[in-house]
Amino acid sequence: MGAGNREDSVGTDVDWSQEFDRFHDHDKNGNSKEAVKVNRRTLWDVAKHDLGNILAFLVPIIILHNLAWILKPYLMDVEDQRGPWEFVWYHVVLAFGEDRKLLGVVGTFSATFSCFVLGNIFFAFLDYYQWPRFLYKYKIQTSNNSMPDQKKIIKLIKGVTVNLVISFVLMELSWPTYAQRSDPDPYSVPTIWGLLGHLFAAVLGHDVMFYHVHRFLHHRLIYKHIHKGHHEWTAPIAAATYYSHPLEHILAGSVPTSAGFMFTVPQIPVMWIWYTWLTWMGMHDHSGYHFPIMYSNEFHDFHHLRFHTCFGFLTFWDWLYGTDQDFEGSDVSKRHIRLQTLKSARELFPDEKKED
Ligand SMILES: [Zn+2]
Ligand SMILES: [Zn+2]
Repeated sequence: MGAGNREDSVGTDVDWSQEFDRFHDHDKNGNSKEAVKVNRRTLWDVAKHDLGNILAFLVPIIILHNLAWILKPYLMDVEDQRGPWEFVWYHVVLAFGEDRKLLGVVGTFSATFSCFVLGNIFFAFLDYYQWPRFLYKYKIQTSNNSMPDQKKIIKLIKGVTVNLVISFVLMELSWPTYAQRSDPDPYSVPTIWGLLGHLFAAVLGHDVMFYHVHRFLHHRLIYKHIHKGHHEWTAPIAAATYYSHPLEHILAGSVPTSAGFMFTVPQIPVMWIWYTWLTWMGMHDHSGYHFPIMYSNEFHDFHHLRFHTCFGFLTFWDWLYGTDQDFEGSDVSKRHIRLQTLKSARELFPDEKKED
């Protein structure tokens, strides 16, 4: 499939006319005019998918929380009245100091950045050396085995570096407002229900904002000026998560990821958890590998392959506006499930027809 070949989509040599032609092939909802009529999912199907995936994020936190309380008597002094997470965060603050700005800005950025670097090292081994070998079978676009060339990687590193600096500056700028509204105690941690509430608000805020901003960036008058850079990666790699125009990084990245927290204003450790988790999710979403247990990334991978469809992170907004019809009519949609065995999505649902 030519459109999905990484070598075909390298840097300035891209034939963008082929991509822009897609605007003419699509109606105002982003659906292909040639798309065959598909059986749309019901609201119940969408709710099961989206709420199920939110629960799959929150339930492991509840399990981990209960495990920590079970292990507490073995790890902490029996006289200690603090909860296990209070205890862990207390030692983090002891290690880095009580300066809330250091913990909130440098700490949150460092936790996120470390996750990004380690995740990219892992995916780079998989991309370049096909190691660990047993994970390579989870590759989504199996026709794209060619590695991106050096020129494209250098361009990506430059773009990502600029965006990481922007993230840090935005965190610095937003600190005074956060510091004024948040809990002044640097040792403070939320209760389990407080943590779940903050994370639920963050997921919802992100989903609403990301879909609408992303779709706005696909407007035919705006797309080529801002968002087309991110779509140079028709078969994306993990690091492409942060590869975008700086304005897009702010509008579709920083603002949606912080939207829920603007209302709930959580304690600092909640920000460490959310931004690190979301960075890992973003990398998996762009990695090109659909791993077991993880949230399925077939939806966003399809977005990179076909451009003007599947704009959301979850699927509710695409279903509501009908911008997922290309996807629902494709073989790939069957694979958009959380894999619960070691079989790959392609092993479970082999290709039945050519996509292009
Ligand atoms: Zn896009
Ligand atoms: Zn993307």
